[in-house]
Amino acid sequence: MRLRGRFAFAWAPAAGLLLVVLSAACSSPAAEDSGPPISGRQQTELPPQGSAEAYAEQLESMVQTGIVAWGITQPEVIQAMRAVPRHEFVPPEYLGQAYENHPLPIGYGQTISQPYIVALMTQELDLEPGDRVLEIGTGSGYQAAVLGQLEVEVYSMEIVEPLALAAEERLRSLGYADIQLRHADGYLGWPEEAPFDAIVVTAAPDHVPQPLLLQLAVGGVLVIPVGPVGGYQELWRITRTAETSYDSASLGGVRFVPLVREEQGG
Ligand code: SAH
Repeated sequence: MRLRGRFAFAWAPAAGLLLVVLSAACSSPAAEDSGPPISGRQQTELPPQGSAEAYAEQLESMVQTGIVAWGITQPEVIQAMRAVPRHEFVPPEYLGQAYENHPLPIGYGQTISQPYIVALMTQELDLEPGDRVLEIGTGSGYQAAVLGQLEVEVYSMEIVEPLALAAEERLRSLGYADIQLRHADGYLGWPEEAPFDAIVVTAAPDHVPQPLLLQLAVGGVLVIPVGPVGGYQELWRITRTAETSYDSASLGGVRFVPLVREEQGG
């Protein structure tokens, strides 16, 4: 297992936020227009908006500026981010923003996570080939697809039925046939498939669910945002170090949609 300093990661999401503010403040259309004409390639040859080529360019730019430049280092994770076409996971009205480094609405009050956060959480799981990974909060299926690019067994749970059904259809049509999906309350985990080497939670509860702690294999890692709805939430990396002991490290402040319980779900 790769060990990292706790301090180093405590500021990572905050540094990312700072970068967003800076890049938003610094970008100007004039800057893109300046410079000599590029010989041999007319501006009219830019790939048409919405074409496969245009999406491929935007995806590569997202990986470079929003993933690598923000400090994601694991080559497998960077490659997985590069391999998943995020525009297939966002609603049609947001296609123009599919490769921007922020969350987007996916309906039912839910969001597809920010690409950087997906990469960070995936990296923090410290996956090894053959690991069994449980995701709570399938949503669009994007994080599940990123996990599906790694040589691991993926299980994902979603409480809102229409989102669960749509994600299943989307993942199947994109060829992620091996990802196991379940429409159920992820607070309770997936006991029949436990133990898991890694669990990633993409909605924030106000406490760490006991069933998830118990479904971790010894040596396994739980990455989970914890905090009040709309308030300060902290991303935690919790390692089960022995049958009855856990070690936790904060990865910094984040903002996620709330983890809801069965009676509140769709
Ligand atoms: N990983 C998703 C992000 C989805 S947002 C993606 O990549 O698109 C978080 C998701 O968690 C929402 O779809 C929400 O409906 C779901 N969720 C909230 N509470 C849940 C619970 N108790 N069990 C399972 N899913 C839950």
